[in-house]
Amino acid sequence: MSALQRIRQLVIDRRYDLSAYAEEEMWIMICEFCGGQTIRKKVRKIHWLRQQLYIVDDVEAEVCQECGERYYHATTLDAIDRMLAAGSLRVKKHLRVPVVGMRASSPA
Ligand SMILES: [Zn+2]
Repeated sequence: MSALQRIRQLVIDRRYDLSAYAEEEMWIMICEFCGGQTIRKKVRKIHWLRQQLYIVDDVEAEVCQECGERYYHATTLDAIDRMLAAGSLRVKKHLRVPVVGMRASSPA
């Protein structure tokens, strides 16, 4: 277990009295999957709301520098839902998206 993972575990166990903000920062520093460090980036996100698919640009995320896994804060996801539901995000363009299925014989 790396030093950062140990610190994160201590935060999770509540043995350190950190502010909610600091706890949030600790949580997103280390990738759950590979242990890599994340950096904050604005990304393009595929987002579903009420059976409607959206592509949302400039979404703040923590992105693992090793494996590329993305982490979104719950408040960011809530904000996207709220703004889409309110119609307050301008539609820049519409895309036609093909939907395909993998066959059993498809190469891996
Ligand atoms: Zn990773």
